[in-house]
Amino acid sequence: MIWNTKYETMPRKELEELQLERLKYQVARVYEKVPFYRQAFMERGITPSSIRSLADLARLPFTVKQDFRDNYPFGLLAVPMEQVVRLHASSGTTGKPVIAPYTAGDINMWAEVMARTLSCAGMTKNDIMQNAYGYGLFTGGLGFHYGGERLGATVIPTAAGNTKRQIMLMEDLGTTVITCTPSYSLTIAETALEMGVDLKTSKLRLGVLGAEPCSEQMRQEIENKLPIQAIDIYGLTEMVGPGVSVECPHKLGMHIFEDNFLAEIIDPLTGEQLPYGEKGELVLTTLTKEALPIIRFRTKDITSLNPEPCKCGRTLVRMSKITGRTDDMLIIRGVNVFPSQIESVLLEVEGVEPHYIIVVDRKRHMDTLEIQVEVSDEVFSDEARKMEELEKRLMEEMESTLGISPVIKLIEPKSIPRTVGKAKRVYDRREL
Ligand code: AMP
Ligand code: ZN
Repeated sequence: MIWNTKYETMPRKELEELQLERLKYQVARVYEKVPFYRQAFMERGITPSSIRSLADLARLPFTVKQDFRDNYPFGLLAVPMEQVVRLHASSGTTGKPVIAPYTAGDINMWAEVMARTLSCAGMTKNDIMQNAYGYGLFTGGLGFHYGGERLGATVIPTAAGNTKRQIMLMEDLGTTVITCTPSYSLTIAETALEMGVDLKTSKLRLGVLGAEPCSEQMRQEIENKLPIQAIDIYGLTEMVGPGVSVECPHKLGMHIFEDNFLAEIIDPLTGEQLPYGEKGELVLTTLTKEALPIIRFRTKDITSLNPEPCKCGRTLVRMSKITGRTDDMLIIRGVNVFPSQIESVLLEVEGVEPHYIIVVDRKRHMDTLEIQVEVSDEVFSDEARKMEELEKRLMEEMESTLGISPVIKLIEPKSIPRTVGKAKRVYDRREL
């Protein structure tokens, strides 16, 4: 179901006119209200009247995460503090968090894009949505909460964690939609199994799973273990939180709500814009945010854009699944390796579980790559020969995909600690 036909199916030409009008307004606002932007524009000889077409976007300076740090906590605010009704913060674990202030108008826009998101994912007002994203400073919990209510569904704010109780409620209350990170959905599946609960006979039918990368192979694992369609959703604190883009049931890329977020793809090395279809860094500009308008934010997320109309009827551009982050790329013995490649290879092979960690280290001036992956109960209790075969198979597959040979360590099922939010899978112990 399309929640907002006007904006989600607008002919692209009309949409671009709307985007230009909104961009002009945002540029004028930040020029006037935010000293950081005024200065950055002045250094480039840009004034609000410089923006005459969407192509002029490329002339505007980028905003990067460091700019949020340098202006912490309220330096980028474009409204007086008395108009701010809520503050969230990024989930980042190092340094100062990114602070996200919202006006009442921003909260309203957020609920709107989240209602569209859930509707796009296939949810209706008749659904019972169990929201197992973290509540609190993290944008996930309240973002989904408001969206579910705006849609008219029944929202159960369980938040992340307390998995056994989560499963009990799921059965007792007849939950049809689960919202959480992909990794937490696997924890739920595993815990249900331990409890002897068969979720396949429950009413569960849909998962709106995001906030962290999830390869197609990982999606497959989730759909095999739970009776759900797993829909990918993307967002980030700097923009609004969840609500930037989401897949429709065709799973052919995530529709970006472009009347609110203007998307570009750039070459992360040169900063040049790349054409549709090419993979690069996603750059986003807010078009309707009041408290924290952001111009050309470099997300560091790697994706590509497809403007073709979708089978679902939406005209909104689609971004492909995130295949990595520019700062996630590991350079191991001079070879570029993305964790997502490793995940894809692992999950193609029978006998391993979707729980793994990647450890990079340096021993005697040589980089080492170790992949620890849990094996299934079956493989683990089988003869040692089976384990050796599996290890050899994984080694070969990794070598041919990555171009370097890792050490594969097959480990006991359930030995990697489970997380309730975003999973941490890469440990780079090199001191560079
Ligand atoms: P935060 O602002 O702390 O919620 O983190 C936002 C970041 O989470 C994004 O820039 C992405 O790197 C990551 N992220 C969010 N949603 C997804 C998704 N669906 N797939 C991959 N990465 C995601
Ligand atoms: Zn679609």
